[in-house]
This record gives sequence, C-alpha cells and structure tokens, in this order.
Amino acid sequence: MAGDRNSGPADDARGAQAAHASVSFPGVATPRFSALPPLSLYVHIPWCLRKCPYCDFNSHEARTPIPEDAYVDALLTDLELALPSIWGRKVQTVFIGGGTPSLFGAQSIERLLSGVRARIPLVPDAEVTLEANPGTFERGKFAGFFAAGVNRLSLGIQSFNARHLAALGRVHDAEEARRAAEAALTIFGNVNLDLMYGLPEQSLEGARADVSAALAFSPPHLSFYQLTLEPNTLFHRYPPPLPDDDAAAEIEDAVHAALDHAGYVHYETSAYAKPGCESRHNMNYWRFGDYLGIGAGAHSKLSFPDHIVREMRYKQPQQYLERVAAREPVQERVPVVREDVGFEFMLNALRLTDGVHASLFAERTGFPLALVARPIEEAVRKGLLDADPALLRPTPLGRRFLNDLQMLFLPPRSARSATGHRLSIA
Ligand code: SF4
Repeated sequence: MAGDRNSGPADDARGAQAAHASVSFPGVATPRFSALPPLSLYVHIPWCLRKCPYCDFNSHEARTPIPEDAYVDALLTDLELALPSIWGRKVQTVFIGGGTPSLFGAQSIERLLSGVRARIPLVPDAEVTLEANPGTFERGKFAGFFAAGVNRLSLGIQSFNARHLAALGRVHDAEEARRAAEAALTIFGNVNLDLMYGLPEQSLEGARADVSAALAFSPPHLSFYQLTLEPNTLFHRYPPPLPDDDAAAEIEDAVHAALDHAGYVHYETSAYAKPGCESRHNMNYWRFGDYLGIGAGAHSKLSFPDHIVREMRYKQPQQYLERVAAREPVQERVPVVREDVGFEFMLNALRLTDGVHASLFAERTGFPLALVARPIEEAVRKGLLDADPALLRPTPLGRRFLNDLQMLFLPPRSARSATGHRLSIA
C-alpha cells in the first residue's frame, strides 16, 4: 500500500481459461444468482523503493531496475487470459495498487489503462484510482497519470510528523508529504490521504496534530489505519514502543471526533469521506461485489450463475512474469462454499457504519438469508446488531467490538474442514 488498484488471445489459451471459469466443485452446495454482482478491476504493482518495517503486503524492494514494460505487457496478457471469466460484464471501478504504482512512469500507466479499455468495457464514469507514494512525487508525473485516465489518487502520507515518518521507515519526509498532497488535490481533486495512528511513541497531542495537518488540505477522503504488528515484518521481530490499548483507543476517539467535527462521515471502519466522496472501489468490496485482480499476488472473487470462486496469482514478480508467459498466472483457485459464504459476506458488510439492506445478502451470495439466521439472532440478542430485520447494521457496541460480532458468523471448524475444497492449479 503506497497509498489507501494487442492481439487477441490464442484459441487454446482462451479455451483453457474458459474451462477454469466453468470449473465445478463436486459436493459443494451451489448458490443461485439472478444477476451477478457489480465488477471491479484491481491491478497490483508489486515494487517499492524500500520495504517499510511494518508492511506485510506483497511488495518487494526494487533492488534492480524494474521491468516496467515487460510487467505492463504481462498485466495485459493476464487480463486477456481472464476475459472468459468476465465476458459481457461492465467494470465499474479500477484500482491500481501495490506496492508503489507511482514508481511507474506516466507512459506505462497510460499504456496499461489504454490496454484495459481496449479489452474490457468500463462504465462511462468509472472511478480509476492509483496509489502513490509522496517519495515518488513529481508534478509532471502526477499530471501524466491524470492525463492517462486516473481520476482519483490515493496518497500514502502515513504521518506529517518527521519523527514518526522516520520511525516508520518511510522514504518521504513531512515536506514531501505536504507538497505531494497539495499537488494531488490541484491535479486530481478526488484524493484520499492514508494516515496511520498508534505510531511508535505517539502521544494524543501528536495524533491530533497529524489529523489537523491532514484536515488543512480538506481532502474528499481520509483513511486512518491503526499500526499493527503483523507476522513476517521487521516490526514483529523487533517491536517498537507502541501506545498501549487504552492510549490507542483514546487516539482513535480523538481522530474520530476531529473528523466528525470537520464534516467527514465515518462510513467504514478505517474510512472517512465528505458526503458523496466514498471510495466506490472499496464500497464494492464491503458490499461483497466481484473483483478481478491481475498482477503478482493479486486476489479475485468472481461469481458465476451457480458458483463463486476466489483466485490468487503467483506472488513473486519474476515467477508471475514467467507464469504469464506460460499463460497460467493463477496459482490457486478455490470455491467459496456454502458454509463460509455467510461469514465472508458479514466480514465485509459489517465494516460499514450503515451496514447493508438485508436483501443484499441473497443478491450477493446467491443463498437465502436464512443461512445466517442463527448468528443474526445471537448478535441481536447481544446488542451487537441492529434489531431492524430489514437491515444488517452493527450497533455502536457492534462497531466497537467488530471482531466479536464478525466471529459470530464463523462456521464451526468441523463444517469448514468437511467442505474445504481447494483446487490448486500449480
Ligand atoms: S510503501 Fe511501504 S507500506 Fe506501502 S506497500 Fe511499499 S513497503 Fe508496503
């Protein structure tokens, strides 16, 4: 996360992909869709200038020159190979994420987006976001991204405080963060600033100062993530002194109050927006929409009339390039089974402050809401879920203890292992 994603294919490859798209999973109770969910496209660019010590994303330090042209070629081939899975469907949003997509030149992004448009139909007002790192900021380059068709920029600021930026191992300083935010707002208008809280030795006052610095730009969208120590990161091995749980909760409340006061709607666990400026791409995730992910390690969730599939592409950039050349970039393909789909839906939908209409469950999972009637009843009884049967909406208590609420929908382990279908393509 640097910020908050030819010719036609050969017939044999198209046939092989079509076979994958219609793969069936014996013994799996199947969903029934009357209409498929909205579709988004995610594009992963896996390189960064330097690996941040807290980051567990599929991002790789660019030690040698990035094979930019070859990677764009591979992305377009990857997209072509995936076309049979999304025939006839319009794409609502595109998100170019990473990694640090802004490491790529504007020409590469232009070639990528032209190639995307030539292969799939985007809706006329499609939201096209690119994640950028202030450390890669050049005004001319950002203007080039805009000219290429990027209409929303997500800028990975993390903090405006020099000491915190250094502790986070970021490649940019506070002044670069300010310059990048200013230019992004001038060029794109539609901008998200990513910030983190609960940083090493961060005080309540320090966190308030960071929020004020962000609000001075009046961006349409702000994301606030709590710094957590994820396995397989440097911070996990050598933990920095973080605020304790009470201090972090106090900071979170202060962040929320300041943004609320400034007119931002806290519409999702980590996201705040001016009214009407919510991230359409992320909303599609939270509302259990479909997404095709292309690029190294990208994930997809795709629905078909009688099944839902999750896919993951090869993670290592070099291996991904090789597997695209062999016309099989997908490493793993797994059905979303009946026993898991309720949990997966709720895991996303309950992050939304307003929740979703209850009818969305059947629309997006292909199964009746009765599938999760029991955990819903328990969640209402515990005061974690709104009692209105027309809505699936967390109460303020449910938002505070979101993890506990989501866990109520986790299927029993026995049910999961009995239906754990996994189809490895490798
Ligand atoms: S910039 Fe840092 S946090 Fe963002 S993807 Fe790269 S390594 Fe991870």
